Amino acid sequence: MRVSARDPGAAAAAADAASPESFRRRVRAMYALTPDATIQGLCPLDVNARNIDSYEQGRWELVRRDVAAALGDAVARRACAFLDDVGAIQDAFGIRTNAVNFKKVLLRALYETEALELRLRRLLTYYRGDMHKDGGYRDAARFRETCAAHGRCRGAMKAICDARVFLKQICCVPRHPECYRPKRLATMPRTMITRGFVVRARAKTGRDADADRAARDEDDVVGYAFTPRDETQPSLTNDFDRLVTRAREELRVRTHEMDFIVASLVARGVAKALVVREELRAFSKTCGDVARDAEKLASRVRRDHDDPDIVMRERFTVVDEETGELHASSEALEAFRVAAEMDSVALALEGSAPALAETKRWIDEALANPRTRLFAAGDDAHTTSFVPDGFALVKMVSEYAETIERYEPGALVELARAGRVDGAAAARVTRAEGTKRCGRCDRSYSKLWIVGSTCVLCEQAARDAGRCPISPACPPGFFCPHARACLRCERAACDACGVSRGDAEDVAQLVETTNAFCVFLDFDRTICATKAGASPLPKNFLDLTPEALAAAARRRAVDEDFVSLLRSHGRAYVVTRNSNVDAIETYLRAHGVARPKVRRVMPGESKGPTIRRALDGEVDAAARRGEDARAPSVFVDDDVRELLRDDVREMRERVKCVLFSRAAS
Ligand SMILES: [Zn+2]
Ligand SMILES: [Zn+2]
Ligand SMILES: [Zn+2]
Repeated sequence: MRVSARDPGAAAAAADAASPESFRRRVRAMYALTPDATIQGLCPLDVNARNIDSYEQGRWELVRRDVAAALGDAVARRACAFLDDVGAIQDAFGIRTNAVNFKKVLLRALYETEALELRLRRLLTYYRGDMHKDGGYRDAARFRETCAAHGRCRGAMKAICDARVFLKQICCVPRHPECYRPKRLATMPRTMITRGFVVRARAKTGRDADADRAARDEDDVVGYAFTPRDETQPSLTNDFDRLVTRAREELRVRTHEMDFIVASLVARGVAKALVVREELRAFSKTCGDVARDAEKLASRVRRDHDDPDIVMRERFTVVDEETGELHASSEALEAFRVAAEMDSVALALEGSAPALAETKRWIDEALANPRTRLFAAGDDAHTTSFVPDGFALVKMVSEYAETIERYEPGALVELARAGRVDGAAAARVTRAEGTKRCGRCDRSYSKLWIVGSTCVLCEQAARDAGRCPISPACPPGFFCPHARACLRCERAACDACGVSRGDAEDVAQLVETTNAFCVFLDFDRTICATKAGASPLPKNFLDLTPEALAAAARRRAVDEDFVSLLRSHGRAYVVTRNSNVDAIETYLRAHGVARPKVRRVMPGESKGPTIRRALDGEVDAAARRGEDARAPSVFVDDDVRELLRDDVREMRERVKCVLFSRAAS
């Protein structure tokens, strides 16, 4: 019996009342993977922790659709209004979107901070000799400034790293509420690196009460290791459990109907969205606590201990007024050593506290403004992330760049003149040298000065020349002159070059926000986890029964966001070099794509002409129907070479290119 989604019919309802079994049978019959099903996909009644990833999820409409199909429009309206009212479910979905976007912004902030930290660390080793008695401490100020900038930058970097790691974990908590809480979250704040700064600072402050407290905390902190107990903590399902309890008490539906509604809430990601919200609250509180502790401890260290610069000024004696040469007694040196050690403790805290406070501030903004897109992935910025006004994290970190600008050019000039410098400069150059050979200039450096197989000097020369600093094989066209980085080898993205970078969720958002006219998706390693050119189905797929085919299709992991796009977007194409076109079409049909449009591109050809032909055809068809075809289209591929071919670049006005990368999430 086929049942219309809009009106299950009075007879059916009467039968349901008589038997929960007949209700379940009728509902199960509405779900199938075939295009003629009332609802494509698995039935929510069958959801469990193992198969939950196969359900389309993440939107409130999906629950409304399930409930309307099973219980009729009137019940769906009443039940969903009640559920959203009690559970603030749509808000939870909005909060989740903001959290996902914030996580991406944090990734970019982390990349930037890591790059600055590396450059400061180089300068720190390079100018270490400034603090040596042989040089009479003449350039101590340069070293001290670099120390302070590096210490704070590293503190901020670890805070951003904590924020990123925990947010990523929060965004991908398990969908099923019966799964355990991810152990990373279960150990909050114990496994936060910044929390480690606090615990270690307490141990060093020398106050008995602090030391006692540190001894207690230290048990928890050792090695940041997980314990078996961490693996079996329950998920934060208080909100979801409360919602279900109230719905069972107050929504007037039969028990088996309520069971179906709850199953739909689980299958469609409502339970998960509510867990994400609870985890965000917990993490916000933790960030606030750690930030406050860090700030308090930092100011206590500053109050209780000498500043190393003051120790130098007051306890080192001047040998030569003109050159600024100093002498230090062994007592003065010891006092300096202690002061410098406590200084580095304070610097880590001073760097991390504001970054944690800023993280907390934006999580709170996300929680308080579920309907505002705070960090929307846009198509008009230089990168895929849009940073709201007043986001201080990036600015906070860029202050350290001033120190780099002051001292790095001098260091690089000296390095380039190696062999032609003497004295302290020669000693500095020696410190940068080591056993790692640069693949471009044949000089050898210590590993701090070589990234991949390119030394700092060759890297700079390559960037100045507009060439990829990583791989000599990259043509100049891969180099983005705006970000001064290789679009293939580095984590760069550039709107002017027409290449943004993102995961499937970014693509879905881009399509949604630009109302994209056409969508062109690569298949291998993008939609499906096939190796390049391999068939997504067994050789005999044409002979399989529908059940066996569905099972075979499920065996190959599929990207749900992309498949949803193919299902829901009327002009979504697969553009692939994979020759198994029939198998791909069958595979996509098995995943609920009613009419897959697969276009094959021959070896040696660009994807450009294929895309252009499809696009022109769609524009003509739209014109005949009087539809608007002005919105840009989107082309997604995991190989930047496909995006950077001339005939693809020529379409830049019409086609936005996204370099697919799971790491961008
Ligand atoms: Zn080199
Ligand atoms: Zn560019
Ligand atoms: Zn490259």
